[in-house]
Amino acid sequence: MELFDVYPLYDITPVKGEGAYVFDENNIEYLDLYGGHAVISVGHSHPLYVKAITDQVNKLGFYSNSIKNPLQKELAEKLETVSGVKDYSLFLCNSGAEANENALKLASFQTGKDKVIYFEKAFHGRTSGVVAVTDNEGIKAPFNKGHHAVKLAFDDTEALENELKKGDVAAVIFEVIQGVGGLDEASTEFYKKASELCEKHGAILIADEVQAGYGRTGDFFAFQKHGIRPDIISMAKGMGNGFPIGGILIDSKIQAKPGMLGTTFGGNHLACAAGIAVLEIIEKEELIGNAKALFDYVKEHAAQIPQIKKVKGRGLMIGLEFDFEIASLRKKLLFEHHVFTGAASNKKLLRILPPLNIKQEQFDVFFEALNMALS
Ligand code: PMP
Repeated sequence: MELFDVYPLYDITPVKGEGAYVFDENNIEYLDLYGGHAVISVGHSHPLYVKAITDQVNKLGFYSNSIKNPLQKELAEKLETVSGVKDYSLFLCNSGAEANENALKLASFQTGKDKVIYFEKAFHGRTSGVVAVTDNEGIKAPFNKGHHAVKLAFDDTEALENELKKGDVAAVIFEVIQGVGGLDEASTEFYKKASELCEKHGAILIADEVQAGYGRTGDFFAFQKHGIRPDIISMAKGMGNGFPIGGILIDSKIQAKPGMLGTTFGGNHLACAAGIAVLEIIEKEELIGNAKALFDYVKEHAAQIPQIKKVKGRGLMIGLEFDFEIASLRKKLLFEHHVFTGAASNKKLLRILPPLNIKQEQFDVFFEALNMALS
């Protein structure tokens, strides 16, 4: 059987990983500055992570989500400690899109309203509900182009106020730092005002932390830098370090009734074991601090490369904006220098989303490769 042909594939086959490196079938080593799109948070095949999952699968891999699973509570408690956010409850699912689907659905249940505000260049997933609030016409089928999604310019407080004033908005969904869209971040004033306006007009504020969350930006959640409190926080990617797990944190003011949300696999034993191990490693190895510190190091190095016009992002969610389109540079880095990097909708932006335990020396390897690729 052939695979349904939806992804353009590079001719590289990683078969094992260790820390910030992956190895192909000929044992050639690749520096991974992309982490499979921000998924690899604590490094490939981290021994504590591997042990936690294997120990768990040796005990019990899955059972129904309507039967008690103490690992879910353990994960929720660990998440509260490591993230520092309080008075939320946790609903577990399996991916970023699914987390956002549940966030929107819950917001609509809570408010009884049907309109959602999203922002230019936003990316919230590809399933039918959230693709409607993703700014990419190319991935929307006619079925996804409803009348309930309103797109506004990012950082435009006035437009947001005018829309919210109408009183029919269930939710405002945003990424604090846009990932796929190209690492733009609005001002603290905008996030604060958005938060106030949602409160005033009875809309639910949803922070999509699927990519930026879990320590990547040098804070546990990217919104924490702006001093706001979203009503719902969606998470996935780094949460499981490759094991599929997603979730939403729900403010205690939002009430759920039994049966509103649900999923067969969400919160299964293996996913929880992976999720707990990730949080333990982030805490023990102080990876949030590492993410914060390395950004300055990258900025210093980038400043010495004349073709780099701007360094965007924070922590280990980095965009290097060149004065030319980077498609061939990315290929050169991958095939000639064995470094994985990422692209964005801005074609001049090279995206860097490495494991959070990457070391300074590994960035030296990258900059050496980059200088060679550029010369
Ligand atoms: N939200 C954001 C901010 C994302 O970057 C992504 C994935 N790129 C998603 C949601 C969707 O996540 P998933 O692919 O796990 O459905």
